[in-house]
Amino acid sequence: MKFNFKQIYVQRSIYDDFLWRTNAENIISRFPGAEIIEVESHWKIPELVDADAGDWMRNKRENLVLGIKSGLTHTKNGRSADFIAASNSNGCLSSCQYCYVARRKGGSNPLTVFVNIEEIAYSIRKHQQKLGAKLEPNQCDAKFWTYDIGCNADLAADSFVCDNPAFLVREFATMEYAKGTFATKTVRDDYWTAIDSKGKTRIRYSLMPQEIARYVDIGTSPISDRIKSVNTLVDAGYEVHFSFAPIIVYDGDLWKNAWREMWREINDTLTDKAKAQLKCEAFFLTHSQNLHDVNMQWNAKGEEFLWNPQLQVPKKTAPDTLVYDYDFRRRELADFLKMLDKHLPYCPVRYSF
Ligand code: SF4
Repeated sequence: MKFNFKQIYVQRSIYDDFLWRTNAENIISRFPGAEIIEVESHWKIPELVDADAGDWMRNKRENLVLGIKSGLTHTKNGRSADFIAASNSNGCLSSCQYCYVARRKGGSNPLTVFVNIEEIAYSIRKHQQKLGAKLEPNQCDAKFWTYDIGCNADLAADSFVCDNPAFLVREFATMEYAKGTFATKTVRDDYWTAIDSKGKTRIRYSLMPQEIARYVDIGTSPISDRIKSVNTLVDAGYEVHFSFAPIIVYDGDLWKNAWREMWREINDTLTDKAKAQLKCEAFFLTHSQNLHDVNMQWNAKGEEFLWNPQLQVPKKTAPDTLVYDYDFRRRELADFLKMLDKHLPYCPVRYSF
């Protein structure tokens, strides 16, 4: 991935602290041509939020934001992890068309990196110390409290810009009761294999069939590369799971054939060692009218797959979000899990919806 940031927005208070300033300067030095623009807050920078959606990719690739994460809380989750850790970045260098982060942040969702990474890691360390050892296994992990550190970003992509991801992996390696985890669509074997995670980081590759990913997973690594990478990362001491998501319904039943084909590729590619530690999560697409309208301005082709008004209904608990019809999804999820079990019987499903 190559980036040519033209503007780097820097939250002014970064200059008040030696460590924050040093971390920010390290990032800025990677992009010597960028104009530095000081801002009061990293949040809702008007020229980014109100940027023309038609210029989505350009806005994303040209703008970077450096901020301070305040409110270091770790929220109970129970799905991807026991806790969603206070984020160390948000926004993303990729442009998945269904991304919920873009829905929340507005504009083209350019990357914001939080430079108070030491503070963020320390707050996770204190949090897990307060919890003490995990006494009962759950679907998140049998032994450790898991913290999702990439809920609002793709950490592997962030690693092209900053060293927050490596810092956190090293920190988890020395935490008594915690394990870090994040989902990614970016292959960075060289970066991860240079770090000794001590088995305390779980990388979750998000996968969907390539025939649909090429239209909606914009700016991400090819699916085959993600699958191949599992063997390398497992050999390097990482735990690697799959996130089969989002499951997108299109062309009658044709979408199911594509999943079967991808699972065959996984089965043919993974080593026994990688298969033995494999688990997955699986969930269907959510969408929204607002995101659809924005997407139509920069990648209408992807919406041919995502926008499915005959099948999409308001989510009961959040009516602005669209989900597949509840009965339809229940039926299709059961079928999906049956197919998955037939193709990858060694891959338990941690959770699905
Ligand atoms: S990789 Fe994740 S955070 Fe980045 S655009 Fe895709 S869904 Fe959003």
